[in-house]
Amino acid sequence: MGGYKIVLTSDRTLMSEYGGAIFMGFSACIPKGVIPDWAYFNIFCPSVKVDRRGSPLYTSYGLRKIEAALLDYGFSEEEVAVAHPDYIDRFIGDSTRVIGLSENDPLGIGPATTTFTEILGGEAYMAIKFRELLSNQTLAKYRKNIKVIVGGPGAWQLESESVRNELGIDCVIIGEGEKVVGPLFEKAIRGEEIPSIVYGDVVDVEEMPTIRRPAVCGLVEISRGCGRGCAFCVPTMLKFRCRPLEDILEEVRVTVRGGRNPLLHGEDVLRYGAKGIEANPEAVMKLFKSVLSEPGVTSVSISHFTLSTVVATPRLIENLSSLLGLSKNRWISGQTGIETGSPRMMSIHMRGKCKPFRPEDWPDVVVEAFQILADNNWVPCGTMIVGLPNEEPRDVDYSIELVRNLKSFKSLVVPLFFVAAGSLEDKVRSFKLEDLTLKHSELILECWEHNLRWTPILMNEYFKLSTRNRILCSLMSVIIRYGIGRVLKLIDECRRVYGGDIKAIVEAYRKGAKRMYDETYPIPSTS
Ligand code: SF4
Repeated sequence: MGGYKIVLTSDRTLMSEYGGAIFMGFSACIPKGVIPDWAYFNIFCPSVKVDRRGSPLYTSYGLRKIEAALLDYGFSEEEVAVAHPDYIDRFIGDSTRVIGLSENDPLGIGPATTTFTEILGGEAYMAIKFRELLSNQTLAKYRKNIKVIVGGPGAWQLESESVRNELGIDCVIIGEGEKVVGPLFEKAIRGEEIPSIVYGDVVDVEEMPTIRRPAVCGLVEISRGCGRGCAFCVPTMLKFRCRPLEDILEEVRVTVRGGRNPLLHGEDVLRYGAKGIEANPEAVMKLFKSVLSEPGVTSVSISHFTLSTVVATPRLIENLSSLLGLSKNRWISGQTGIETGSPRMMSIHMRGKCKPFRPEDWPDVVVEAFQILADNNWVPCGTMIVGLPNEEPRDVDYSIELVRNLKSFKSLVVPLFFVAAGSLEDKVRSFKLEDLTLKHSELILECWEHNLRWTPILMNEYFKLSTRNRILCSLMSVIIRYGIGRVLKLIDECRRVYGGDIKAIVEAYRKGAKRMYDETYPIPSTS
């Protein structure tokens, strides 16, 4: 076979819907070896289905956008194919000129992955699978004719020339790719020289292509960028843009035809239609009502929201909840940044995040938002940054106190090591295990204990409602409950033997220390 001129793909960890549960996505960051590979790839990260050619029926939204941008530019369906990495050999041949990869965390150094690998050791699956994909035998066979181009949210990790050379990458696209891929891929196909780094321009909403096939979990982009301007955030987040309703509905139709309900994606879904920081509740309600009215849509999920918008617009949360028919056992979940409990840290790094409130209000804003969300059956999955630049012990104390104040709310609080990115990239270094103080350890333990308390309950409720494979859900449930038991045992050992010092227990284990407590820890009840 001659193969396709342009083959688009991603590593295997991005070819899964992770059981459709938002809290399962974090399993991608766990290093290889923590659970057996067969269990990871069959139970937690099962592959999406493929068509008869080996093209995934669902893939990352980013890859779908690039596929659409290339088709809009003028390439034909016969020239562009999206390949599942397990079947990529069927797509590469004499005619292939470009392999385009979209990656989230190709080196496994994003915040969530860094946190897991620093503490547990080892390398994350996404980095291993990315390298595996680049060393594919068929790609090697035709390599002299092919340019390897990598983009996606994690492309910033490949900016260094030595990294690109080592991995055999010809070009990296950093930023938004839709406007640059057409001319760039055309050059590569003609055999002309291409730059090793391309910085993608900000794309206006009218120029954003419409996806032709569904993305994983039914993801549909409603807005791009954020505009709150946190210092560590990627520069492309600076410009906030909302897509026209008709374009969103067009992608909802594609998604429903593909057998998925839509998951509306934006950095703050509650600010759809807003001109700046102030929300536009009418536009948000119109969006949700219109999406729900599309034939075939039976539910709507969301990706991210901001806690300050929740407190600024409590009526919007109430109205959305009744529109979506939420109840105690039928909740909606979304990711949100808590990041710190310290007004001082808020003031230095994220003044925009708490607007229209002040940095000194932040801890109260977080608790009030969690209360509003709980009252309306929303389950926040929050992130908490460990090791922000210029952090002092009292800042960590504020964060510990905040996590304790969130104890009674059905939620997750995921601690993440600070990763130097955005405007801080060249000014400070990322946080490492060696920087972890006893206070940081306490903050992480508080977060983990919070999550271990709520995960069995969330899992139970989610699996009861889920239409996914029952056997898979049961297997996942058994493994997670077993894992919770093991982690509780380790936390207990950390507190009792190592005085709550995570760095000390990690170092002791790496030097071969034997476990102090080998009795089976009671597995928490999920009732
Ligand atoms: S609120 Fe979130 S998306 Fe917006 S700038 Fe801050 S970190 Fe980035």
